[in-house]
Amino acid sequence: MTVSVPFVDLRRQYETIKEEIDAAVLDVIRNSAFILAEPTRTFEEQFAAFCGTKHCIGVANGTDALQLALTAMAIGPGDEVIVPANTFIATALAVSHVGATVVPVDVDASTKLIDGAHIASAITRKTAAVIPVHLFGKPVAMEPIRKLCDAKGIAILEDAAQAHGARCGNARVGTFGNAAAFSFYPGKNLGCYGDGGAIVTDSDDIAVSVRRLRDLGQTRKYIHAVKGYNSRLDGIQAAVLSVKLQRLDTWNARRRQLAKRYDALLQTKNVATNSSSPAGESVQHLYCVEVEGREDVVRMLEEAGIGHGIHYPTPIHRHEAYADLGYPEGAFPVSEAWCQRTLSLPMFAELEEEEMDRVVDVLTRALDAS
Ligand SMILES: *Cc1c(COP(=O)(O)O)cnc(C)c1O
Repeated sequence: MTVSVPFVDLRRQYETIKEEIDAAVLDVIRNSAFILAEPTRTFEEQFAAFCGTKHCIGVANGTDALQLALTAMAIGPGDEVIVPANTFIATALAVSHVGATVVPVDVDASTKLIDGAHIASAITRKTAAVIPVHLFGKPVAMEPIRKLCDAKGIAILEDAAQAHGARCGNARVGTFGNAAAFSFYPGKNLGCYGDGGAIVTDSDDIAVSVRRLRDLGQTRKYIHAVKGYNSRLDGIQAAVLSVKLQRLDTWNARRRQLAKRYDALLQTKNVATNSSSPAGESVQHLYCVEVEGREDVVRMLEEAGIGHGIHYPTPIHRHEAYADLGYPEGAFPVSEAWCQRTLSLPMFAELEEEEMDRVVDVLTRALDAS
């Protein structure tokens, strides 16, 4: 009999918080507190306090969070925005949708994250912003990037969609740039029960602007100062997030503990992992290994019922959507090699150690066979 192991199991987490979630959602319904009402305001205050920022503005999803933050930072046509080639497509789409030019750069060979050296080599007179992405839940080394950007007057927007709660020293990600974008997509470390996102910032100007932009450009009811969007974090999602936020640090600690255990098990099998996090404390959104002959390995995992993912199969510059940028294959070798070799293993706070043992067992047998 094969015992399957899910890549992520949201139902398992729900079972542990069911009573509180059910009560919180019912409360929103009973109060008709659906849009920009008390539950949304409360979560915004809680999440700003959690991150250590002055403001949090809830929006409809993480992609909008990036786009509205860029708009509030006055980034648009004629501007260049530097992004890592190794990221989720949304990082780049937000740049394109404000009319700016996406400038991908390769990532650091050891962390697979964007770094100061690659950014420095891509800066031009048109560079208006950099989007460091704390991918896999690992904080990017922000100090060199900040020095570089401060010296040249370049804005920083952190993409923290995979890194809720990650820290460098005592500071959480989201506090290192002019603003930061979060996603609350269900599978993220802090996920709601639908789509959701937020911008955090210490800047009063960015906060005021994003608050308008997410609500059709309104300053008061039916007074529209700018051409805004409809992109709001709804009350039901906010209520779910308030319940879950209280557990986030505990869940993240459990993910780190599981990652350590994976590390120990895989080290003896000589499997290359990507969990080291030199710049700070990871929240281990993903647990990735690097494998040769990934197709065969994936097939064997599938046959054994082991959940898995690939984050991501294609770097930004090799998507058809970005063919217009004109980068050839080989332009960003570290990102391209990563995309061909990476494989994400089951990782969520409720994963059982016996399940992990089974994942490692099947993976090592697959690697031996391939
Ligand atoms: C999930 C994600 C986003 C987009 O968030 P959505 O809520 O899905 O729009 C952006 N950047 C990264 C790195 C992500 O992982």
